[in-house]
Amino acid sequence: MPTYEYGCQDCRKRVSLYQTYAEYGSTPVRCPHCGGANLRRLISRVRFARSEDSRLESLSDPAEWGGVDEEDPRSLGRMMRKMGREMGEDMPPEFDEVVNRLEAGQDPQDIEKDLPDLGGGGDDFAEE
Ligand SMILES: [Zn+2]
Repeated sequence: MPTYEYGCQDCRKRVSLYQTYAEYGSTPVRCPHCGGANLRRLISRVRFARSEDSRLESLSDPAEWGGVDEEDPRSLGRMMRKMGREMGEDMPPEFDEVVNRLEAGQDPQDIEKDLPDLGGGGDDFAEE
């Protein structure tokens, strides 16, 4: 029998109740602690965590990128731009710079030469 998680609005306890699928939604549930009927179904956090995982999995799945050609800077640039959006986080300015250069068709090796700070861990040595 499946377990359903409820939060009791009366005594603020979290309760797990066994119900059959037939009972769920048709049979009134009562809090085993206070007998209250104000139970609200809790959406499992586990489910959210799992969907988050699968989102990240799809990010790292090459098939998801619709055939990125690693030899083609423009293709790489598109992939990185999409990835940056998917991450939904603020990317460093260098990230945009790299994406722009890739999309302009610049060779990744040249970009690394132009932007020595990339992935450099923030070294502050000035170049002569
Ligand atoms: Zn209760």
